[in-house]
Amino acid sequence: MIGDAVLRDKARAVTADEINDDLREVLSKMSRLMYASKGVGLAAKQVGIDKRFLVADAGDGLYKLINPVVVKKEGVQCMEEGCLSVPEVYVKVNRAEYVVLKALDEHGKNIELKADGLLSRVFQHEIDHLDGRLIVDYLNWVGKIKLKKKLSGRKIKA
Ligand code: ZN
Repeated sequence: MIGDAVLRDKARAVTADEINDDLREVLSKMSRLMYASKGVGLAAKQVGIDKRFLVADAGDGLYKLINPVVVKKEGVQCMEEGCLSVPEVYVKVNRAEYVVLKALDEHGKNIELKADGLLSRVFQHEIDHLDGRLIVDYLNWVGKIKLKKKLSGRKIKA
């Protein structure tokens, strides 16, 4: 959740020897959690793992990406985004309309993906997580003050 230190630093790259059945099991569990939470993406950091991998499904199938890197960006899209780690907060975020990604699949094979629209947005949101960036970082100063008030007024579930 927002406030957790793990969400705020840059995740470590997955090494070749770490791509094994254990990692594939974690990716499956994350996919199930994403669907159960009605999310469209989930980064390892959001489940407390300080490594660079993510799952995403924007409606056209499940992606499991290891060490994803954006190699090309084009255009701009603006949309209100939410985040499973920042509940009840929605922020308008400018993202590239189109991205090309390089990553490894869950078997360690090099893949290149092209995405636009919502899928492109989800990939950029999840890669932000791997870099320690959250949607609240896109707020201007007025928005940040409003958010502070909102978070401080939140009831604690202890
Ligand atoms: Zn998120």
